[in-house]
Amino acid sequence: MDTLDDEYAIGLDLGTFFSCIGAYKDGKVEIIPNKKDEKTTPSIIIIGLNLDVLVGEDAEDNLVKNYNACIYGIKRFIGRKFSDKELKKEIDKFPFKIIGSEDNDSPIIQVINNGIPLTYNPEEISSFIIKKMVQTAEKYINKKITKLVITVPAYFSDSQRKLTRQAAELAGLHVLRVINEPTSAALAYGFDKEQFLNEKILVFDLGGGTFNISILSVKKDENNIKNIIFQVLGTYRDAYLGGEEFDNKLVELCLDKMINKEKIKKDKLCLKKLKISCESIKKKLSYSDEQILVIEKFFENEDLKIKIKREEFEDICNDIFRKIESSLDQALINAKLTKNEINEIILVGGSTRMPKVKTIIQNYFPNCKINDSINPDEAVAFGATLEAEKLLHNNNNSISNFLLKDITPLSLGTNILNRSTDPKIIEEGEIMDVIIKRGTPIPYTGSKTYSTVSDNQTKMDIDIYEGENTFIKYNHLLK
Ligand code: AMP
Repeated sequence: MDTLDDEYAIGLDLGTFFSCIGAYKDGKVEIIPNKKDEKTTPSIIIIGLNLDVLVGEDAEDNLVKNYNACIYGIKRFIGRKFSDKELKKEIDKFPFKIIGSEDNDSPIIQVINNGIPLTYNPEEISSFIIKKMVQTAEKYINKKITKLVITVPAYFSDSQRKLTRQAAELAGLHVLRVINEPTSAALAYGFDKEQFLNEKILVFDLGGGTFNISILSVKKDENNIKNIIFQVLGTYRDAYLGGEEFDNKLVELCLDKMINKEKIKKDKLCLKKLKISCESIKKKLSYSDEQILVIEKFFENEDLKIKIKREEFEDICNDIFRKIESSLDQALINAKLTKNEINEIILVGGSTRMPKVKTIIQNYFPNCKINDSINPDEAVAFGATLEAEKLLHNNNNSISNFLLKDITPLSLGTNILNRSTDPKIIEEGEIMDVIIKRGTPIPYTGSKTYSTVSDNQTKMDIDIYEGENTFIKYNHLLK
């Protein structure tokens, strides 16, 4: 393999359920297919009995027989605290065991292998996925890859970003930049051009298991007008809404059509097979009005054959569609905007291929253009690849002359005394005093004057926190 590593720019969308990688080749972005010729690869790994690690499409092929040894959705755990109450609720939904690290309260994945417990932290698991994606790309472009741009959700904290970078480093890569997923999608559609200045872009990202809406504005950096900033005005997130929820609805619909429903519900293997088929039927229903689900030797050696109409599928998903509508309301509230102020909409995530989802968005924003010309599950990797090309080969004329600036995803500040007289407020403890507001282009220097508690004090420890809560205990201490 040729070792010239700086020939191709690489962008990786490391997704919760699916990942996607692109390379800039012959003057354009190419999204790289895996062994199965699919442009997205499941973010799944299986630790085999001989400690061999199956990743992506290889893990997917062994899913049914190794279901208990498979690890997925790891992006939900990276950079979080095991003691976090919200995380505890999420842990129960996963079949693999998660324990807390004694050193730093981070979540650790425990796998029992040949009776011996093995532990992996989320960065290690992510590094297996990154390595696999990069190997696929190396084979395709026939070049060694050492550098890449990687994407993270807009709401990711500093430590989540650092650990994602660390995961890539564990995979032996140098991270040129970590960029926000919605920003990456906006780059893919070329919204970093002068003509889009001051436009408001809504990035609607409905993936396999998560739903994110981000509202961005294209701005000039006040400190350097050559720089363009995608400022995140507001986000809305539902960590458990995505394709999987639609799959579950379809499973329910199929079960309702079976005579021996109760018996089948107790058979885990049957349910798994049914779920895999339902996902495939769901995708086909995006392009046809009717489908027939067939599983040979499904239960007690009998074949399963069920006719499903798109209309009935959409009907049983009505509550999910209503949730999507109210999420749009909430995202606009969070960004302090009205729907008329949105100029462009970008569709990201495989579930936006569902015709009903598109209809809901178009009805909600009747005067807005929906950008869906780039495959929705490839748009983020596409933008990340353009950014990598820009960073690696600065003089390339085929890309606009922008310089993308990062912004602080969360406010930064320190802890000060709570001087309230209300006992309920006092109970909450120290207050977060913001020094640098969220959304500030970086690098940036902020200062504030504080006085010491006692006279002639010469030293003090200053803790820096990130977060938006008034009370320090709900924000995150940076280390
Ligand atoms: P992502 O994580 O963005 O790759 O999205 C993956 C999700 O998109 C999975 O739940 C897929 O089942 C779903 N998906 C992909 N293609 C389609 C389609 N044509 N119709 C409906 N859902 C789809």
